[in-house]
Parts: sequence; C-alpha cells; structure tokens
Amino acid sequence: MTSTPDSRLITLSRDLAAQNLVVLAEGNTSTLDGAGFWVKASGRRLGDAEAGDFVHVDLDDAEAAIESSTTDDFFAADDNGLKPSVEALMHAVCLTDGGATWVAHTHPPSVLGLVASEAGVDAFRRHIYPDAIVVCGLHVATVPYVSPGRDLALATRQEIHRFSGEHGQLPKTILLANHGLVALGATPTEALNISIMANKWATVLHASLAAGGARYLSDTEANDIDRRPDEHHRRSELLRSTKEKRNEHD
Ligand SMILES: [Zn+2]
Repeated sequence: MTSTPDSRLITLSRDLAAQNLVVLAEGNTSTLDGAGFWVKASGRRLGDAEAGDFVHVDLDDAEAAIESSTTDDFFAADDNGLKPSVEALMHAVCLTDGGATWVAHTHPPSVLGLVASEAGVDAFRRHIYPDAIVVCGLHVATVPYVSPGRDLALATRQEIHRFSGEHGQLPKTILLANHGLVALGATPTEALNISIMANKWATVLHASLAAGGARYLSDTEANDIDRRPDEHHRRSELLRSTKEKRNEHD
C-alpha cells in the first residue's frame, strides 16, 4: 500500500461535493490499495478533502468485522484520532463482491427524494432516457433501509449477489432506500459519471412525475440502447477523464 491515498480519490471527493451530491460531512469515497482500501474518515467533509482525511483499512479486518457480532475494534480511532466512516464496511463489500476499484457514496437530494417516497426505488426499475442506461447500467441494484454500519454491509452484499445471479453482471449503481446512492467504478471518472448521471436521472424523474407521470422506455428500447456497438464505444470513452485523454494525445 502507499502511505497516502491516490490523489484522484481527493479530486473525486471534491468533485462529488461540487456537484451538490452531498452536504457537510455526508457521503464517502474509497479506492483499493494493496491488501486494503482508503476510505474517508468519519466526520470529514468530501468538499474540502485532503490526504489526511482518509484512513487505510485492511480488507481482512473489514471482513472480520462484517462477520463479527461486534465492530468496536474496527471503528476504533487510529493513532491520528481518525476512525473509518461508519459506511466503510459497505465500501469493503463494493470493492470485493461488487468488483469496483473506486466507490462513491452520496446522498443527492434528487435521488433521496425518490428513494424516500411512496414510489421508492421502484421508480428506477425502468428507464426514461438513453444516457442513464449507458452510464448507470440497464438495471440498478436496490437495498432496503437498514441502519448504516455492519447491517448495511450485509444487506449490500446480499443484493449484489442477488443482482449478479439475476443479470449475469455486477451493478454499477446501487440505490439505498431512505438513504442515498452508491456508484461502483472501474475508474474515478466512472464513479463520478455514475453519480452525476443518477442525479440527473432522478431530477428528470421528478419532472416527469410532476408532469402527469413518467413515460418509460419499453424493455426492447432499453435493451437496444444497452447493446448498441456505438453506445459500447461511448461507454468505454466515458471511463476516462478528459484530462487523461488529452495526455494520451500530447
Ligand atoms: Zn450514507
């Protein structure tokens, strides 16, 4: 492992806050490093994140905490007084079972407004426009409300396994009822893109529901977008940031 987190984790954290997907100390980000991962420390703000706002957690320790009846040792403060976010165990699950390398967890008001409504996560079961399919995935995973911590990690693990069994692939987007959004990325750019697009998707849903109800794409139309070769190309291009692409051409 490196002695400090990858600087892209700091950039991702600040970008999520700049998009108004979190306020105050809400949300958290993580990325794999060696036999563990870096995750935001409890109480620190994504918006002004610095290297010292993250703690390194061993995946073995996280797994032991998930399987244990007590998580007190896992969440104890380190020598610098930093504790892993209460949602660190959910990040561990997303970085292992979920196959992600970068995870962004936010509480966007648009998404929260729907997943905390009577419509709930079901509002996202079908798509209403093509770009959300390309960026967030044809299907989204959904987790019922459970208290943050070990219970949320277990519920997320169960849903990832159910999702991969049903769809034959891992989710990019997880909606947490009455809580928020989790974006699972292969790159920091992908984790940010999923978060931004899920926020737009929820905003568009709000507008369409207020204008007489959403007219969803048919399953055939949604599948067609998901499988189109030009959309596959666009999807792979979106994994990289504009800066990364520019550097390749220098
Ligand atoms: Zn949260």
